[in-house]
Amino acid sequence: LKKETVDVLVIGAGPAGSLASALLKQNKINVLVLEKQKFPRFSIGESLLPQLMSFLEKADMREVVDEARYQFKDGAAFRKNGVYSEFNFNQKYSEGPGTTYQVKRADFDKRLADRAEELGVEIRYQHEVCSIEEKDDYSEVVVKDSQGEAYEVKAGFVLDASGFGRVLPRLLDLEYPSDLPQRQSIFCHIRDGISDGDYDRNKILISVHPQDNDVWYWLIPFSDGTCSLGVVGKPEFFAELSGEPRDKLLSAVAAEPDLAKLLQRAEIITEVQQIKGYSANVKSLFGNNFALLGNAGEFLDPVFSSGVTIAFKSAELATSLLIKEKRGETVCWQKDYSDSLLKGVNTFRAFVNAWYDGRLQDIIFYQDSSQQVRKMICAILAGYAWDENNPYVAQPERRLNVLAEICKS
Ligand code: FAD
Repeated sequence: LKKETVDVLVIGAGPAGSLASALLKQNKINVLVLEKQKFPRFSIGESLLPQLMSFLEKADMREVVDEARYQFKDGAAFRKNGVYSEFNFNQKYSEGPGTTYQVKRADFDKRLADRAEELGVEIRYQHEVCSIEEKDDYSEVVVKDSQGEAYEVKAGFVLDASGFGRVLPRLLDLEYPSDLPQRQSIFCHIRDGISDGDYDRNKILISVHPQDNDVWYWLIPFSDGTCSLGVVGKPEFFAELSGEPRDKLLSAVAAEPDLAKLLQRAEIITEVQQIKGYSANVKSLFGNNFALLGNAGEFLDPVFSSGVTIAFKSAELATSLLIKEKRGETVCWQKDYSDSLLKGVNTFRAFVNAWYDGRLQDIIFYQDSSQQVRKMICAILAGYAWDENNPYVAQPERRLNVLAEICKS
């Protein structure tokens, strides 16, 4: 096999891979990105959180996103049984950007990857990582190129940013079951035809099924009169709905009267897709010569749109350690990568669990919360899940329990 050598090999040119490779290149680390698909390609995960704008800034990637004329986003709105509650991200506890965008990922991911190339990163599209052999201080990776020819890359370090491809978890036997129950989602894009003047296009709208707390819908507006529409529930919920995914989506929407009314003139404009069992975990987020970024590590749940933010955070943490190592500094991957990343992931985990068991829904729809507490909750919803000054980051479970009790009584 033809052989080549790189300092860092990045698997996947999604958000985590593009951001990581740009940060490495800017610090003069020799990096190669291998991407299985041809871009642009569809990806789910279209509502961003303000916290991630600071990662884009750090990687010198913000401008290409600001130029794209994406739908402005300044908050999250929730509706359940006619009760509406909204969070404006500018009224958040933590410091940092308070607005962001909702994006069609095919375009967003391509822009980031193109920007990484502009910054000097080499990305090879339609090159698929097929196997890896771990040695003491490097890895041998076998790749299949667009012609089906195999070659080998000797990499000092591998960053797995392969998302749901989960390349290293599969190849290195790192898969570990998620502690969240498996859920399913059916989604598509619609031309929304919304004429309701009260509808706020600057916020994601999360609606809850009137009878089933476990089932919720996303409506993510884009800047061109279209929206991403999706419904999430346990497989049993979908099994009871008849027909093809399209029929199931339509009958699920019909069950939520406010959403059905809002979308009365909507028209489906893409294939209706479904994803099942996306929650996933791993035994370890790093090894001798590798680290798992974004979805290649743990994926929780889509309810708080945290996926791309976690992907960027992981890329930022891992690359900063690689940069320190390059300077000859000693780093601790357990403490400074895994534990640091999991701090925020565990904040989101507590929020996801509290959403599905009803505690967080009680909190969100409670009308008399103190402004300070609402700001703290708002900061998490805006992605600031690593700010330990926020008591809901420092002790999410305990704080949510106390607050839920207050809101219930
Ligand atoms: P990806 O974006 O998945 O990129 C991985 C890349 O790796 C792909 O381009 C793939 O082709 C490539 N790859 C895979 N295998 C190989 C291989 N063998 N060799 C080379 N390349 C390979 N997140 C949000 O932030 N907001 C949301 O609103 C949101 N909604 C969601 C809704 C649902 C139903 C689900 C399931 C997820 C949602 N997410 C959301 C999560 C979001 O999709 C992911 O967290 C995000 O895309 C992760 O980015 P990534 O860079 O880790 O991986």
